[in-house]
Parts: sequence; C-alpha cells; structure tokens
Amino acid sequence: MPSIVKDIIDRYSGKSTHDLTTSEQFQLQVALSIESGEDLRYEYRSIGKRNPSKIHEIPYLKSIFGPEILYSKEILLTIDDGYVEGITEAYCELICSLKVYAAFFLVGETVDEAVLLRLEKYTEYCSFYIHGYKHINLSKLSNGDLQNNCSLISKHNRIYFKKKVIRLPYGGGYNDPRVLSSLPSDLFNLHWNVNPEDYRFTAEYYETYGAEQISNLLTHLVLQNKSLDKGGIILMHQENDSRGIKKEISFLYIPQLINYLKSFQFDIIDLRSKLFCRN
Ligand SMILES: [Zn+2]
Repeated sequence: MPSIVKDIIDRYSGKSTHDLTTSEQFQLQVALSIESGEDLRYEYRSIGKRNPSKIHEIPYLKSIFGPEILYSKEILLTIDDGYVEGITEAYCELICSLKVYAAFFLVGETVDEAVLLRLEKYTEYCSFYIHGYKHINLSKLSNGDLQNNCSLISKHNRIYFKKKVIRLPYGGGYNDPRVLSSLPSDLFNLHWNVNPEDYRFTAEYYETYGAEQISNLLTHLVLQNKSLDKGGIILMHQENDSRGIKKEISFLYIPQLINYLKSFQFDIIDLRSKLFCRN
C-alpha cells in the first residue's frame, strides 16, 4: 500500500513555500516529522496567565476561537454536520464509550422533537447545538436571505436547542459583521482553532491509503498544531458518505487522538461547563 506520508512529501517538498497554502505547508511539516520517525510527543509551551470568560460574558458579535473561553490545555471536541439517523447515534455511542465530552453541531432543519428524544440518552457526554438552519454559507447570502435564515435559526434554536452557541456552516461569516449582527443577540459563534481538515480525506484517499494511515495523519495534524497550547477547539465532521468511509476513519482516529490527548494531560471539557447555565 502506498504511504500517505511519502506521497505528501513527494507532492509538496519540491515546491517553494509561496506555491503552497498554509495548510499544505503544515501537512508537509507534519509528514516530514512522521517520516523522520519522531515519536508523537507533546511539549507544552506555557503561554502565561490568562483569564478565560464564560460565554455569557463575551461581548456581542464575538466569534469564539478557543482562548477566549478555554484555559491552557483545555480541549473542546466538536463534531459537525449531523443529524443523520443512525450515524449521529453511532458517533454519540463512541464518545460515551470513551467517557469524554463532545459538542455536536446539528443542521437545524434535520432536528425535531423526535430526534432530540433519540439523542437524549447520550447527554451525559454529548451536547447538541445548532449548525445553521440549512447547511449554507451565510456570508454568501443576500441581505434578505440572510435575515430569513437568521430568523429560522433563532426560532429553531429557541424551540429545540435552547443554547447560547451556534456554529456557522463552513464557518461562513465568522468574521463578517454583516452575518454576526444578523444572528440573534444571545447566540455566540463557536469557531475552531484546530482544523486537521478531515474533509480532505475523501473516498479516493481511503481507497489508496486505508483508514489507519489517514487516522494516524489526522492525529499528528492535531497534536502538532501549536494552537493546542492556548486551549483547542478541534473541528471534526461526522460521516457524510453513504459507504461509511468517514465513519471507519473516525472510529480509529477519535479514540487514537483522545488517548494521546489524555496521555499528554489535556483536559477534554464539556462546553456546557462554559455556558451560563448547564443545559
Ligand atoms: Zn458543516
């Protein structure tokens, strides 16, 4: 089987850094470190004293990236793009079996009372938040469509999720005042600061390299991200391929990553503990 690490090095190392995106440069750096046989380890770089806020204390219009609400070495696992019947439950089962917390961001229109009832039994470790009403990039909408979407988000959040936190689909508008000021004033956008881009690893990658190599690479891409020092909001996505490819990768990657995070004394925390009230 070809090596994903060697292939990344072959693809990127001949190029000048100007021709590579930041993400490609980071992939190359991580691939080289794996290739050199370095063990995965984590050196914590102290970043000094910080005083993270509770979400209700963060000023209106704020997108949260991590350090605003997290202490050093605190981790939030976030899993986007549910609800899909059977699949979201499988991810919840995995999280509960690992006894860690995760915040699930579910597309509003996929959630109703019946769905929440099915997810109820996972709420010890899993909490659920709105991921837009539809899975669209709000920053690309006209003013009228943006207002309509934000009304739907507000209504749906009030009826079903009852939370102070949203994640904007595609992160679209996380730094756009037009989008942020259109959101209900009691909703904060929870962005991310650690994104190993799991969506890059499509069926084609899976068929070439297999789930284990992809899982290993994703784990390295998270652990070598320096943002972890400041408190990391890690972006993950649940299965979106009917063949179950993503799920097979996630079910190797998530436990592997969590094992490492625990062994490096990271705290995987419950987003609800950062909210004004625990619900
Ligand atoms: Zn999404």
